[in-house]
Amino acid sequence: MPERTSADRAATHRATTDQATTATVEVIEGRTARVGGLPVRRVLPTRGRRTIGAWCFVDHMGPTPAGPDTSVAPHPHIGLQTVTWLFEGAVLHRDSLGSEQLIRPGQLNLMTAGHGVVHAEEDPGGPSTELHGLQLWVAQPAATRDGDAAFEHHAELPRVDVDGATATVLVGCFADASSPARRDTDHVGVELALRPGTSSLPLDPAYEYGLVAVDGPVVVDGSLLPTGAVAYLPVGADELGLAVDRPTRALLIGGVPFAEEVRMWWNFVARSHEELTAAWRDWSAAADRFPPVASGLPRIEVGAPPWSRDADAPGRTTP
Ligand code: MN
Repeated sequence: MPERTSADRAATHRATTDQATTATVEVIEGRTARVGGLPVRRVLPTRGRRTIGAWCFVDHMGPTPAGPDTSVAPHPHIGLQTVTWLFEGAVLHRDSLGSEQLIRPGQLNLMTAGHGVVHAEEDPGGPSTELHGLQLWVAQPAATRDGDAAFEHHAELPRVDVDGATATVLVGCFADASSPARRDTDHVGVELALRPGTSSLPLDPAYEYGLVAVDGPVVVDGSLLPTGAVAYLPVGADELGLAVDRPTRALLIGGVPFAEEVRMWWNFVARSHEELTAAWRDWSAAADRFPPVASGLPRIEVGAPPWSRDADAPGRTTP
């Protein structure tokens, strides 16, 4: 654990007047990155942790003024599901299946890539707003990762009141509520609207979990989790203690530890460099695997994966 700053200690004290602060939780701070013009904090994967259940990627987008700069042009995916969850703003999703779907806070866009899909996520225009949300990826298991692409939008999701919080279940089951969203592995995703004070949440001991502090610090089992960071909780716990000193949103993700070793590069989740290189070649060649998207933006191109640059000159695209 890195040493805490005095500001952190003060925040901990404010939030935990009646909680011990001796427990330690693995805190993943993440790093800043950009997706096009969109500033993000990437908290998964990190050097020390590749997956939490089947969750293999967590980008915290904004908050940032929305506009053309925050649009993400057409790009491909394989072997994963994208989960888009907004707190503020709106995003227009278009994909190679022909889907066109505006998403707003409280709604879920779930795209399954399988063998291949292409999508764009654009600023819908209109009155300027802030954009604040999460994009997460779920690694698909062997049974479906080479299968068909699919897209789901859920405008309504189950909500359940638990001790100290209201939970919205994006995917999976939590506190006797079940999301209707597709699920290829045993995992869960829940937005928590935490009320000031403490809360105690039921966990599945078969799951590992990550808690993302979305818009304020959260004390997790006695340890301070700064805004934007993720607390990792290993399998075995049946309860999670949280504390906040003002209304705070958090996202809880979890699942049975993913049994297969994933390899990720760019927008692809696979099991080997060969599969990743093949996906890059197919995208660069505009192969049928990645059909076009009805977007006014030009598709995103990248150079060859680093391990294949002896065979494919850097920047080489269509043969
Ligand atoms: Mn994407």
